[in-house]
Amino acid sequence: MKFVGLIVAAGRGERMGSSVPKQYLNIGDRSVLRCSIETFLKRPDTYSVLVVIHPNDRALYDEAITGIADKRLLQPVEGCATRSGSVRAGLEALQSLSPSHVLIHDGARAHVTPEIIGNVLSGLESSAGALPAVPVVDALWQASGDHVVQSVPRAGLWRAQTPQGFSFPDILAAHRAFEGEAADDVAVASAAGLAVRVVEGAEENYKITTRSDLERAERDLNVQPDVRTGQGFDVHALGPGQSVILCGVEIPNDHGLVGHSDADVGMHALTDAIFGALAEGDIGQWFPPTSPAWKGAASAIFLAKAVERANARSFTITHLDCTLICERPKIGPHSDRMREELGRIAGLSKERISVKATTSEKLGFAGRGEGIAALATATLVRK
Ligand code: MG
Repeated sequence: MKFVGLIVAAGRGERMGSSVPKQYLNIGDRSVLRCSIETFLKRPDTYSVLVVIHPNDRALYDEAITGIADKRLLQPVEGCATRSGSVRAGLEALQSLSPSHVLIHDGARAHVTPEIIGNVLSGLESSAGALPAVPVVDALWQASGDHVVQSVPRAGLWRAQTPQGFSFPDILAAHRAFEGEAADDVAVASAAGLAVRVVEGAEENYKITTRSDLERAERDLNVQPDVRTGQGFDVHALGPGQSVILCGVEIPNDHGLVGHSDADVGMHALTDAIFGALAEGDIGQWFPPTSPAWKGAASAIFLAKAVERANARSFTITHLDCTLICERPKIGPHSDRMREELGRIAGLSKERISVKATTSEKLGFAGRGEGIAALATATLVRK
């Protein structure tokens, strides 16, 4: 049997409420679509895999398949506004390969397994079509508005899944002859009079439609939440001046802090802690001290950049902790305002931000009043 996996992933998935189509959202570190592609490629008997994508999604698709070197994964083809149209486009593109069979799969069913594919292939040995499905076990009721009217017998009822397998020439002809929009490919096959056998699907092979489906998928795959802790450390020398800026708050002092920017050592350490959690270098790489652009800059710019990077990568900052090490000025009276200021920049409630201070018992540079040091940690959780 020379079979091809045809994965339809051209939908917009509006019920997910995400700007990115659901098939490109991640379950752990793999996109929903990639899960299906990899499952098809896991089977040595898969001849090829072709994905039908939306014309706007080429960049998302390329990102989703990064690192897949298997030559059996063909260049994607562009789909249409309707599912039937997209399947048809995929089937037409496969004609030159002359497969004996095609397994048409919904790109939003991330949990298809090699075993389900095997069940479909077994079904195709004795039938022109094979439908993986699970029996309906719940009582079924018909309602009018929100009131039940009558029960519906569930005997012989199945919940359809994908991949739905077919003899390739038969389903291509069926699609060419079909007009209108079908619920799935079994509907197209049935309209053409093809026999379709029900084979065993699996409860886990559900369609990811809503945000809670995606969360369920993460639980099912036992994906560990991506929680990260980053650390930061910074030192600035004390020099002439009448105030210091620490964690965004100006405090009168007998010396100022020396630095290219406003020398806010606390905010720099926090910024580095976030970059550390993201594994995206450090503040010096993002804002080179050699650049005149950052001369005298308010350090809020640096922290805001790190926060922006975290958000862009779907991380939520859940906690920030900063320890300032100095003999003077006294930090305690200002720590509340510092937490408020940091919270304003990082978009975080004050309750999730800690600013504390210690002296170094008059030891070392901080103890001698030559400079101020800051330690910080940031905790980030991927949404
Ligand atoms: Mg610094």
